[in-house]
Amino acid sequence: MLYGSIEAGGTKFVCAVGNEKLEILERVSFPTTTPEETMPQVIAFFNQYKDDLVAIGVGSFGPIDIRKTSDTYGYITSTPKLAWQNYNFLGAMKAAFDIPMAWTTDVNAAAYGEYAFGNGQGKSSVVYYTIGTGVGAGALQDGKFIEGFSHPEMGHMLVVPHKDDHFEGACPFHGNCLEGMAAGPAVEKRNGRKGQDIPQDDPFWEIEAEYIAQCAYNTTLMFSPEVIIFGGGVMKQRHMVEKVHAAFTRIMQGYVATPAIEEYIVTPALEDNAGTIGCLALAEKALKEA
Ligand code: ADP
Ligand code: ZN
Repeated sequence: MLYGSIEAGGTKFVCAVGNEKLEILERVSFPTTTPEETMPQVIAFFNQYKDDLVAIGVGSFGPIDIRKTSDTYGYITSTPKLAWQNYNFLGAMKAAFDIPMAWTTDVNAAAYGEYAFGNGQGKSSVVYYTIGTGVGAGALQDGKFIEGFSHPEMGHMLVVPHKDDHFEGACPFHGNCLEGMAAGPAVEKRNGRKGQDIPQDDPFWEIEAEYIAQCAYNTTLMFSPEVIIFGGGVMKQRHMVEKVHAAFTRIMQGYVATPAIEEYIVTPALEDNAGTIGCLALAEKALKEA
């Protein structure tokens, strides 16, 4: 019995199969080009396991339609990636494999991985952010994703500009929202080099930490979760989490007594595997609920 995982990202698709213990057995990746080119590769990968495959979990870049009663449930909707606009992703998968499937956002899948097996394990309320090419977020309460007419978009929350930061912001919709100020492309645009090439002692990282701490502050006030997890490329700067702790403590001014900061604001225990393991766990859940 095998579970399938599809992490459909804006730059690459990562497909994997896992066993009943949700251990990853095989994993491949393809560049995200067009549905005509990428989807046959996805289907060919899972076709190798067709006899044993019992469910698939999909975590997709978005925005996506997650309303089960909607005519366009399972579609990628208004994405800036034109070839994927209004694409019936889940429909294409269902046509190839008639098995239960879970359908959620890429960041919800990673959040679920951390909830099931990582730094959210044993906790009932978990919020996960990825600070990468964009800022994505997923919130879980008692194993369920918090969502309403659609999935939340906390990555675009407004932040207060840092006093020494005169960057206008890089979000095409809002300019200086959290994603516009703190995602990888904003870091690169402001500094003229990629985050991975900026030394640890550069004063810029204090500015970056300030925005992430504002995000943690807002998240605390809105959800009072048991843990807030920050992953994604930018958080590979290992010194960032401590800087975020310090800025968060300063901004909060003791107003809310959170859990101990080292256990409250953390990076993902599963690191880059959070998404794949999350999709496998969601596949298992979809099978149970089918
Ligand atoms: P994606 O969001 O596309 O899934 P990532 O989470 O890896 O992918 O995010 C990519 C972004 O993170 C890029 O803008 C890149 O410059 C930045 N990034 C990657 N590694 C680091 C690093 N070690 N330090 C700072 N920024 C990084
Ligand atoms: Zn925005």
